[in-house]
Amino acid sequence: MTYVVTENCIKCKYMDCVEVCPVDCFYEGANMLVIHPDECIDCGVCEPECPALAIKPDTEPELEAWLTLNLEYAQVWPNVTIKREAPADAKEWDGKPGKLEAHFSPEPGQGD
Ligand code: SF4
Ligand code: SF4
Repeated sequence: MTYVVTENCIKCKYMDCVEVCPVDCFYEGANMLVIHPDECIDCGVCEPECPALAIKPDTEPELEAWLTLNLEYAQVWPNVTIKREAPADAKEWDGKPGKLEAHFSPEPGQGD
């Protein structure tokens, strides 16, 4: 079991999650983060910290595609442990449907 970052992180990227993870297993893309499933120790601390409710345990149904995406990009994006400012328009994107298709970016983020 692991926790995974899901669609609502895209263009929200509040980054509250990175500060609480005891094993520093968040990785940063251009407009979202992912969790490395093999590094996550399933502590669950990050889940309630996400203002966008984007972090879910992989025991929830229909998260296989997100688990695959987290694993794939955690191997190529830089590690991130220090919280930075959320995007100025993060609130406007919170809860918008279809973000994966329209706005997911495979580009790496800045990292620490
Ligand atoms: S707190 Fe939530 S929305 Fe923000 S970066 Fe972490 S997973 Fe994404
Ligand atoms: S569940 Fe715990 S170990 Fe896994 S990403 Fe969240 S804070 Fe880190």
